[in-house]
Amino acid sequence: MKAIRRFSVRTVLPEPLTALGELASNLRWSWHPPTRDLFQRIDPAKWEQVRHDPVRLLSALSPQELADLAANHEFTAAVGAAKADLDAYLTQPQWYQAWADGQDADHDGRRAPASIAYFSPEFGITEVLPQYSGGLGILAGDHLKTASDLGVPIVGVGLFYKTGYFKQSLNRDGWQQETYPVLDPDGLPLSLLREEDGSPSVVTLALPGGRTLHAHVWRAQVGRVPLLLLDSDVPDNDEAARNITNRLYGGGGEQRLQQEMLLGIGGVRALRLWSRLTGAPAPDVYHTNEGHAGFLGVERIHELTQTEGLSFDEALEAVRAATVFTTHTPVPAGIDRFGADLITLHFGGDNAVAGVPVEQLLELGAETYPGGQPGIFNMAVMGLRLGQRANGVSQLHGVVSREMFDGLWPGFDDAEVPITSITNGVHAPTWVDRRVYELAAKHLGTTDIEREDAWDRIPDVPRQAIWETKREMRAQLVDEARRRTKASWKKRGASPAELGWTDDILDPAVLTIGFARRVPTYKRLTLMLRDPERLKRLLLDPERPIQLVIAGKSHPADETGKQLIQQMVRFADDPEVRHRIVFLPNYDIAMAQHLYPGCDVWLNNPLRPFEACGTSGMKAALNGGLNLSILDGWWDEWYDGENGWAIPTADGVEDEQRRDDIEAAALYDLIETQVAPRFYDRDADGLPQNWLSMMVHTLQTLSPKVLASRMVRDYVIKLYAPAARAGWAMNGPGYPGAKELAAYKEKVEAAWPQVRVDHVESAGVGDSPQIGETLHVRAYVSLGSLSPDEVDVQVVHGTANESDELTDVEAESLHHVESYEGGRHQYAGDFALSRTGSFGYTVRILPKHPGLASESELGLVANA
Ligand SMILES: *Cc1c(COP(=O)(O)O)cnc(C)c1O
Repeated sequence: MKAIRRFSVRTVLPEPLTALGELASNLRWSWHPPTRDLFQRIDPAKWEQVRHDPVRLLSALSPQELADLAANHEFTAAVGAAKADLDAYLTQPQWYQAWADGQDADHDGRRAPASIAYFSPEFGITEVLPQYSGGLGILAGDHLKTASDLGVPIVGVGLFYKTGYFKQSLNRDGWQQETYPVLDPDGLPLSLLREEDGSPSVVTLALPGGRTLHAHVWRAQVGRVPLLLLDSDVPDNDEAARNITNRLYGGGGEQRLQQEMLLGIGGVRALRLWSRLTGAPAPDVYHTNEGHAGFLGVERIHELTQTEGLSFDEALEAVRAATVFTTHTPVPAGIDRFGADLITLHFGGDNAVAGVPVEQLLELGAETYPGGQPGIFNMAVMGLRLGQRANGVSQLHGVVSREMFDGLWPGFDDAEVPITSITNGVHAPTWVDRRVYELAAKHLGTTDIEREDAWDRIPDVPRQAIWETKREMRAQLVDEARRRTKASWKKRGASPAELGWTDDILDPAVLTIGFARRVPTYKRLTLMLRDPERLKRLLLDPERPIQLVIAGKSHPADETGKQLIQQMVRFADDPEVRHRIVFLPNYDIAMAQHLYPGCDVWLNNPLRPFEACGTSGMKAALNGGLNLSILDGWWDEWYDGENGWAIPTADGVEDEQRRDDIEAAALYDLIETQVAPRFYDRDADGLPQNWLSMMVHTLQTLSPKVLASRMVRDYVIKLYAPAARAGWAMNGPGYPGAKELAAYKEKVEAAWPQVRVDHVESAGVGDSPQIGETLHVRAYVSLGSLSPDEVDVQVVHGTANESDELTDVEAESLHHVESYEGGRHQYAGDFALSRTGSFGYTVRILPKHPGLASESELGLVANA
């Protein structure tokens, strides 16, 4: 029989245990081992059964069990202590409070953002709340957790997907199977936002055809940080509308667009609701994690036009100033693009948004650059136009993004495209194994491994202890891999009697290499299978074998990805090698937490430069793993020759097959000649001293860099704080700042066709200039209707190549000397020749206004 409706009945906890409810519903338990220990202590066997889910554990306890617990004074005292610890965690001033105190106050006494809204289509916080597919979601989860640790006042905004992302299993043939277990929010660590009368609060949105989309809002509590998740599965909706939030990245273009409307527009409405219900301050800054939430800007423009009477252009300035956009992918398929007709259907005609004419919306997402496609609405492009500040997620990805989007800033060199970068990081308490914390506590006398100098004394830690810790973590992974392999084979139809072999696969003493990630083609899951015989020899080497633990999900619609998985699985199924290589289905946070600590080497071989950052290798490094990776993403930035190995890339080899051959051969060579020999090179005590040196070096030098605490501080200082200040400069009664900036932009854009450099003269150096000599530059320019203080006239100098292209440029402003009739002006200035060699300079004119975050922002420049 099938139930027509299912719901979870929540336990009522007896009084001495009520704090357990709070401890279970604040997701801090997911990164706080003492809280998890407390739950485990209740009933270790049940704790395993409910897969370490505190909410499920509590509802699995009988009234008698609860009464017994309530009468156990030792236990209730431990609950009280845990609750006191949580309360202290939630209220004590942290890094952010100290940092904010040190900032200058603006004219209204504001020093730092009172609230920052963080929008993301997915959040990976714990396996208990499966609302993520991969790196983007895990990063968002780590961002919230770290903001909580640092006291940064973030509020997360996302969607609640009833079936989350899919669960992966394999069939007999090794083909990926997807299942979509339905989640019951009542059985999850979520609470529904309700009105004072107890009825659920509702967010509504208009859909085409006169339909209305209703959504409820669930709140998860991530330490200090609330996370609001919109859910369209509510009774007032028609069937199609109920399904909008059914699956993460499911459905076609229309469903995706409606999800993104709910996330962006509905998300802003959920924030207003949250403020109304709780008195929380409205966000000073809006951060969109990838382009999916971009419509949040549309809703805010709408709000300002309706409540403040601003024009579209004025509201746009106020919105842009306070918006941060992070781009996450250089892969075109990773960017959401919709047909203009679909946008018009949702934002035009009867569905027009007051204050945001659909023509203007379409312009925000138009691909108006060489190579762009007419009739397409590009969410990343809209993200860049709606956010005054934008970033990529590693230095290399910054470079790639500036190149990718340079068409939006014609006339500027790529280096000046206003997209900066903040390299991703990972949340140590989530990803670092307890044994590493215990090692630090015992030998370094601290568990604060996030301090900049935390690992400085690691050279004093006995190497025996480090090696023993790694061995234990490797053994733990081996156990986990055996358990999972057996379970997977059962699902694949094998009988238990056939599966004895799974008890002996892998070996806790063998060099363990991990590879786990989503399976888009650019990640090249099967590169290691390029020469299967050679891989076999490495696996079966009698002296220095390696073992491989592999995992990864393919998007359900990606047949190619599924074929790659099948190829991998078939190789690993071979009785000759199956004790040395496993493919573990259903890569998720729970598996990942065993995987990273257990691996000696973390392998990554993407097609450069498509890996924007990558974070799994960082998690491995924090557990003393060494990276073996293509120089892409973060590894390009922080590989230093001693913290792992760089797989040489065949950049520029056009033929993909040949490129794969070359890079795979380089990978095998590295393992054979460097990695394995070093791992098995043991001293008299059985310790691989050279290997341990690399581990120690990694922990000491890489740890502080790869932390999410470093990343979140970077976001606060480099992006959130400036965005908040820019936003404050725009608002205030009547929004004079926004009006003035919008008027300036309109004026400059109208005048720009008349702006030009007419003539440049220079003097001061002879025919053979020498370093240190001063060059006098005089420029005659036409500014049309602009006044001299509305532009910046610059001399730009640098190294010139044979075709006169300038590199390593520096710009210096010239000063206004005098004005002539007809909008003509003279500017002049001196600069010293500070470098030798081929030198060149030019003169250019740029818009100038304190409201601009960068010189290139408007995409306007008049070069000589
Ligand atoms: C860290 C992590 C990812 C992202 O790893 P990348 O190296 O960025 O591909 C994906 N899934 C899970 C479960 C993770 O823990």
